[in-house]
Amino acid sequence: MSGGSLNESIILDVTKHINHIGNAEDNSITVELGAFYRDLEKKTLKKNLIMPSYPASKDLCAIGGIVSNNSSGEKTLNFGSTKDYIQKLKVILSDGNEYEFKPLSKSELDEKIRQQDFEGEIYKKIFELIQKNKKLIKDAKPDVSKNSTSYFIWDVWNGETFDLSKLFVGSQGTLGIITEATFKLIKPKTHSSLLVIFLEDFNNLSEIVNKTLEHKPESFESYDDHTFSLAIKFFPDIVKSLKTGIISLGLQFLPEFFMMITGGIPKLILLAEFTGDSEEEVEQKAQTAREDIKKFHSKTRVTTSKKGAEKYWTIRREGFNLLRHHIKKGRTAPFIDDTIIKPEKLPLFLPRLSKIMDQYDITYTIAGHIGDGNLHIIPIMDFTRPESKIIFKELEKKYLTLCLNLVDQCQRNIMTV
Ligand SMILES: Cc1cc2nc3c(=O)[nH]c(=O)nc-3n(C[C@H](O)[C@H](O)[C@H](O)COP(=O)(O)OP(=O)(O)OC[C@H]3O[C@@H](n4cnc5c(N)ncnc54)[C@H](O)[C@@H]3O)c2cc1C
Repeated sequence: MSGGSLNESIILDVTKHINHIGNAEDNSITVELGAFYRDLEKKTLKKNLIMPSYPASKDLCAIGGIVSNNSSGEKTLNFGSTKDYIQKLKVILSDGNEYEFKPLSKSELDEKIRQQDFEGEIYKKIFELIQKNKKLIKDAKPDVSKNSTSYFIWDVWNGETFDLSKLFVGSQGTLGIITEATFKLIKPKTHSSLLVIFLEDFNNLSEIVNKTLEHKPESFESYDDHTFSLAIKFFPDIVKSLKTGIISLGLQFLPEFFMMITGGIPKLILLAEFTGDSEEEVEQKAQTAREDIKKFHSKTRVTTSKKGAEKYWTIRREGFNLLRHHIKKGRTAPFIDDTIIKPEKLPLFLPRLSKIMDQYDITYTIAGHIGDGNLHIIPIMDFTRPESKIIFKELEKKYLTLCLNLVDQCQRNIMTV
C-alpha cells in the first residue's frame, strides 16, 4: 500500500510455484507462503474454520505478505494479529538452507545452541542478545494493542519457551525467505449484531469507545463524515458492491439521504459488532452496550439482520475504492496512514488532525479500526502540481509530530531514536 514491494534489491515472486495449501485438520493448516489468502480461506471455511487475523486486503494478498507484515484486521481487536496464529515457520536463510522455527523448551534450546553450525550460531547469538538487553527490549515494546513495525524480539523468549518464528513475523523479508507456515485456526461464531453509533462531535469519543469496548465487541470499526458523504454521492457504486436492487437499497439508505439533505451528517460513525451462538445472545449484547452509552445522548441503532448491517460495512470497506475510482484530479496517497493512537487520546488527536488538514486544500477520508485506535487517513494528492511534493513532506512531518506528541515520553524517546 505504501510501496513495500518497490525496491532496488531482488524482488522474488513466490506466488507462482510456492503455493500449496494443505488440508485444515485439528484446528490448524499448513500452507506455502505464495498461496493467496482467498484460496486458504476457501479451504478453512469448508471445515467451518478461519485464520482471523486476515487484513482488509484479503482478496488480493498472499500469505507471505500476511506473515511478513504481521497483518491484522477487523477481528484483531478480539483475536489478535498474525503472530498469534503461527505455530511454525519454514525459512530459507542466508546459507541457502531451509530451517524450521517453532517453540522450543529450554532443554531443546540448549541442544540447538550446542550445535556447531550455522543454525546453532543463530540460536546462541539471539539468546545472548535477548539475555543481555532484557530491559532495553522490554522498554522498547510499543504500548499498543496492534503493531506492525520493527522485529518482535520481545516475543521470542518468555523464560520458558524460545520461539524464533516470532522474529520472522513482521520482518518484511529482511531475514530470510519464508516458504511454509502452520497456522492455528478458530471457529467463527454463527450470529452477529451491529450497534451503530452516530457521533455529532468528538466530545465523548473516548468514553464511548472505552465503554463499548467493555462489552467486548468482536470488531469495532469507524468511518468519518467525508467517507459518509462520498458513499451517498456515489450511491450507484454502493449498489453495485452490495448486489442489491436499487429500490430496496434506496429505501434502506433513506435516513442517510435525509441526513445529507438536512446537513445532519454525523462527524463519525462507529460500528461495534457483537458475535455469539444465537440471535438472542447477540441482540442482548448489543442492547446492553447501547444502554451503557445512552448517557452520552448520541444517536444509536442496533441491527441483527445481515441486510441491515451490510450497508454500514459496505461504506466502511468501500470508502477507499470510492475515493480511488471517482477522483478525477489526483490519486489516493496513503502516506500518513495506519498509525495507532490509543482510544483515550482520540478526542485530542482528531480535532488537531482536522486543524492540520484544513491548512491545505486536500480531500481526505478517515476510516479504521477504532477499537485499536488504528486509523487510515487517506488524502488525495495531485502530483502534477509541483507544490504537492512540498505539501507531502510538510504534512507528513506535522502528522508524525502530532502522533509522537500523544505517546508517552518513554516510548517517544525510543521512537525518535
Ligand atoms: C487496500 C489495502 C488494504 C489493506 N488493509 C490492511 C489491513 O487491514 N491490515 C493489515 O495488516 N494490512 C493491510 N494492508 C497491507 C497488508 O499488509 C497487505 O495487503 C498484505 O498483508 C500484504 O500481502 P501481499 O501479498 O500484498 O505482500 P507483499 O506486498 O508482496 O509483501 C509484503 C512484505 O512481505 C514480504 N514478503 C512477502 N512474501 C514473503 C516471503 N515468502 N518471505 C519473506 N518475506 C516475504 C515482502 O518482502 C514485503 O516486505 C492493506 C493493503 C491494501 C492494499
